Amino acid sequence: MNKIKVNLDKRSSHSYEIYIGYDILDRIALLIAKSALAANYIIIADTTVSSLYGETVLSALRETGLTVDMIDFPPGEASKTIDTALSLIEQLVDRGVDRSSCLIALGGGVTGDMVGFIASIYMRSIPYIQMPTTLLAQVDSSIGGKTGIDIFKGKNLVGTFCQPKAVYIDLKFLDTLPDVEFTNGLAEIVKYGIIDDPDLLATIESEISNIRKRNIDNLGVIVAQSCKIKKSIVEIDERDMGVRRILNFGHTIGHAIESASGYTISHGNAVSIGMMASARISEKMKYLSMEDREHMENLIQKVGLLNYIPSSIQTDDIMSRMKHDKKKEGHTVHFVLLKKIGVPFINGSVADNIIEDTIGELRQ
Ligand code: ADP
Ligand code: ZN
Repeated sequence: MNKIKVNLDKRSSHSYEIYIGYDILDRIALLIAKSALAANYIIIADTTVSSLYGETVLSALRETGLTVDMIDFPPGEASKTIDTALSLIEQLVDRGVDRSSCLIALGGGVTGDMVGFIASIYMRSIPYIQMPTTLLAQVDSSIGGKTGIDIFKGKNLVGTFCQPKAVYIDLKFLDTLPDVEFTNGLAEIVKYGIIDDPDLLATIESEISNIRKRNIDNLGVIVAQSCKIKKSIVEIDERDMGVRRILNFGHTIGHAIESASGYTISHGNAVSIGMMASARISEKMKYLSMEDREHMENLIQKVGLLNYIPSSIQTDDIMSRMKHDKKKEGHTVHFVLLKKIGVPFINGSVADNIIEDTIGELRQ
């Protein structure tokens, strides 16, 4: 089992550990019992995850003598609302959950974000643990303490910063993960390689067929490396005021494409096109070499991520959604661009015509 510590500023948050391994539920249960965080635990999962893993996780935890209960909610981003959160909160009240309790988010990013949000406001905040079951949640959303729900006007517009007490990553959960969800996680891993780690990119490149077959050793390496990159960025900028924004690489245009497609393009594929667009913009603005840009594009193709914008999506639509994105500050859209692979920077002055030309080039 691999152990990575997230060291945070003691004045605001407590540091915590990320544990990674394959088929480690029994050890996770022992670690939770040993940490003596709470008098009782409530697992919150969506119904897909609760029917796949609810009983197994409950019995592993109960085996160590812990008092554990579970509640669930319908799967999918459509559930990440204030209504679901309130309904879960009422169920917590009914079950007598109080400040001596700890929540366990068992599931993907939707579950992790919402459970973190509930934990941060329930009875003025109670502790929570992340037990991510999707690749995306394992390498991205479970680490860093961003919690939130969606509202009609946009995703994650309501939320808090609230760090979990620990993150327990059992790679065995990935055995049942649908391919499309697996690909969402791979896109974020490629992102980490591009913004921070050419060696990680080389590993993805040489091992892609094993990774796609979900070979445990390969997954262990790339998940741990991704967690290390994310945690070191979060350590420097817990509240997303500066360097943490580089994690948004590929997401500015990516989010716009995702929403312009009515969410028929997955997050991972949208981010993949967003990363290609950022590389092309960086090259057009003479920051990035053609070789690096081509290297990135070949890799994205090899990994099997989407590398073009479907013709049904209009350039104007992408442009206007991008300008309304919450990441926009004042009137400028901030892009994460590249000087080379591993060297990103923020640029708030990319001309509209450069973005439009790039979108045009990436059209099918
Ligand atoms: P994400 O992690 O991409 O943010 P979700 O939390 O919505 O998104 O999870 C994506 C989908 O995958 C959901 O329908 C969820 O029920 C399902 N899911 C999560 N973990 C697993 C798993 N280990 N095996 C199978 N399906 C899973
Ligand atoms: Zn993302």
